[in-house]
Amino acid sequence: MKVIIVGGGLSGICLAHQFEKSNISFRIIDEGINHSSKVAAGMINPMTFRRMIKTWKGDDLIPTLLEFYPEIEEKIQNRFFFSRELRRAYNSQHERDLWMKRLEDEEYKNYINPPEKSENTPTHLNAPFGNGFIDTPGYVDAKRFMKHNHDYFIENGALEYSKFDFDALDHEAKTYKNKAYTHLIFCEGYRGEDNPYFGYLPFKNAKGETLTIKSEVFKKDEILNKKCFVLPTEDNDFKLGATYAWNTKDPSPTEEGKQELLENYKLLSTAEFEIIDHEAGIRPAVADRRPLIGEHPTKKGLYIFNGLGAKGYMIAPHFAIEFVDFLKGEATIDKEADIQRFYKKHFKYKKS
Ligand SMILES: Cc1cc2nc3c(=O)[nH]c(=O)nc-3n(C[C@H](O)[C@H](O)[C@H](O)COP(=O)(O)OP(=O)(O)OC[C@H]3O[C@@H](n4cnc5c(N)ncnc54)[C@H](O)[C@@H]3O)c2cc1C
Repeated sequence: MKVIIVGGGLSGICLAHQFEKSNISFRIIDEGINHSSKVAAGMINPMTFRRMIKTWKGDDLIPTLLEFYPEIEEKIQNRFFFSRELRRAYNSQHERDLWMKRLEDEEYKNYINPPEKSENTPTHLNAPFGNGFIDTPGYVDAKRFMKHNHDYFIENGALEYSKFDFDALDHEAKTYKNKAYTHLIFCEGYRGEDNPYFGYLPFKNAKGETLTIKSEVFKKDEILNKKCFVLPTEDNDFKLGATYAWNTKDPSPTEEGKQELLENYKLLSTAEFEIIDHEAGIRPAVADRRPLIGEHPTKKGLYIFNGLGAKGYMIAPHFAIEFVDFLKGEATIDKEADIQRFYKKHFKYKKS
């Protein structure tokens, strides 16, 4: 196998490590501008608080990432994966009732803890309905993840910074710039919607904005969550995030986004802080909220690994392993993530 990975964000990096582990030859082409993996908070949150249910496949994804990220840290001799606690301030009495219900449910025993006593609740926290901890592995420091992994692959000669030139691709001959490949995998994040081969897929990208803030009030080991989150980073500051906005391709921060974050923050805490940075990115999200993974139905040798959405750092390890095993002929792609689910709508093609 001779693989080209287009895109060196979280998706491309996770695949590259899996190829390396399997002794498969690969190179990564990245434009050098990243608008999601680098900006992300990198939180691993096993719960969807809105309905107080487990996130999709969390029970499988978490054990995998708990091995995957430390293995990479060991290989590249740099750290980016850190433990944190996650404190949720309940939004309403209804949410507290749901929490109490889950507490008695065996299915949730790995995640939900009894509500905190009021004397253990920070005084700045707006928690009239109480609060409690979710067990989480913590977070991936996105900037460190991107920097250390890019340094590693550049040093190994596996990563080049350039924009993929579609005119230099001959997918029938399976060559790019006249060099042969066997598998070409597009990991372009939100830009996947402009891909001439895969742009037909139902991307529903979601812009997100965050503030980097400084404060002496928040604890350094716990993430606060209610309507927004405050995440302590390894740089001794905090990330306040994140917004959601659809139907935009502009990845720059906006005053509107900042004001939304400040409004949401009022519901979480009364603690004062200083803003030191404001960033934005675009999550590669999909209409049915599932990844976009698989081979082009008619252009053999062209693949996509995309659509990781708002929880990419949780999802990527499991699906990178599964996808590389699939390419080796040792696994199938999860039906919910496989782009075959859209073949019927767009191609006269028989499902295999
Ligand atoms: C504000 C915000 C907060 C987030 N918080 C979390 C969180 O707490 N937890 C979590 O798990 N996830 C979070 N996410 C989601 C997470 O960031 C994404 O799921 C993930 O980073 C997507 O990675 P990707 O590699 O698919 O895409 P990207 O990171 O967008 O990477 C795509 C790469 O492809 C390159 N590229 C694109 N087109 C070309 C081309 N033609 N030629 C060459 N290179 C190209 C780009 O330069 C880029 O580096 C957040 C996202 C945002 C924006």
